[in-house]
Amino acid sequence: MSDPRRQIPRTDALLALPAVAEAGARTGTAPLRSLISAVQQEARDGLIEPAQVEAEVLRRLPTRPGSLTPVINATGIVVHTNIGRAPLSRIARRAIADAAGYVDVEMDLATGARSRRGAGAIGALLAVVPEAGGALVVNNGAAALVLATTALAAGREVIVSRGEMIEIGDGFRLPDLIASTGARLREVGTTNRTHLRDYADAVGPETGCILKVHPSNFRVDGFTSAVGVSELTGLGLPVVMDIGSGLLRSEPALPDEPDAASMLAQGATVVTASGDKLLGGPQAGIILGAAEAVERLRRHPLARALRVDKLTLAGIEATVAALEATPVRQSLRVTEAELRERTVALAEQTGYAVADVVAVSGRVGGGGAPEVPLPGWALALPESIAVTLRTGSPAVLARIESGRSLVDLRCVPPEQDGVVAAAIRAAAHNPDQ
Ligand SMILES: *Cc1c(COP(=O)(O)O)cnc(C)c1O
Repeated sequence: MSDPRRQIPRTDALLALPAVAEAGARTGTAPLRSLISAVQQEARDGLIEPAQVEAEVLRRLPTRPGSLTPVINATGIVVHTNIGRAPLSRIARRAIADAAGYVDVEMDLATGARSRRGAGAIGALLAVVPEAGGALVVNNGAAALVLATTALAAGREVIVSRGEMIEIGDGFRLPDLIASTGARLREVGTTNRTHLRDYADAVGPETGCILKVHPSNFRVDGFTSAVGVSELTGLGLPVVMDIGSGLLRSEPALPDEPDAASMLAQGATVVTASGDKLLGGPQAGIILGAAEAVERLRRHPLARALRVDKLTLAGIEATVAALEATPVRQSLRVTEAELRERTVALAEQTGYAVADVVAVSGRVGGGGAPEVPLPGWALALPESIAVTLRTGSPAVLARIESGRSLVDLRCVPPEQDGVVAAAIRAAAHNPDQ
């Protein structure tokens, strides 16, 4: 008797199957080779019969390139760092796809001469925030802050309130970030209270700039006081305001969240922000400010190391040109009544009761308006269904709270409600449930 392992189909024979070759055109051959070798190994280990190898490879063929799996966000958390922060608008997706090939990012096609990189994105930002004399797009919010403090205060002092010495996540702390640029932090005030005289006492010949940071991921309540940008400008030094969230103009749904236009109107020299939080665009750092200050940042050698690629420029320009079309904006503004209606329909389509539709509070999430509740509704399902939904196709991410899986449609585009319903029906019938 010959060794049955000899009957395991060879790699080149499997790669030559028409369906496999077709999948290869979508995904590249590397993931197919790993799939084939994994399945062959299962046959060698006796987990499947050699005769099953071909069918098993065909069953598990990848449909998408890359390893990142699209997720339907049913958590009700609008800006969720673990699933890529802001989802892009249809318009921004199109712009990024168009920029993927050769593109005139630094060329004037009419003259053939070199043109200013990022002019379109900068123009779009200035059109929305005419209070700014200049704008710049860099790699992320942290890069924007580093560039601003380096260009304005390297080798000198940055004055900052002790109430604003924040950690932005994953162990990264603002003080460390600024110290890494060669500027020295001069802390003033206390955790809960800082007054104008604290800043005034610290100002001296060594001061490079005053920094204000919006506490975007925590709140200090009670006996507190902080100094506003307009008061700080009276000290005669550049004021850098890190708003974090990226609201360009005030947002009615988030009345306490600072926005770039208002901070500039109050006299901030430079405002820094993230592109992929409340702005609703791709990862980027947005810098808006007085023309001269922004030019100084643009000319700084570090700016070259923090510059963004054509895809980011395309995504930011298209996002800013149609802010009303961003999924983030739509998720913030969707009404409670609409959410309730859609959630009741979801319950009916999935065989659950209207009693399982419960009032919940959505969240803005990482990087803006901490603790601001967004009143809404969710379908409450057994806790154990969350993992089945998460590992299904498509992957649906519910929020686990108090022993339940809450399916919140706030961040689900309405046209995908049916997909969510189908995923819940499939998960509820899953024998693992
Ligand atoms: C999020 C945030 C940052 C960091 O921005 P990234 O885009 O994540 O680099 C800095 N400051 C504040 C206030 C923030 O909220």
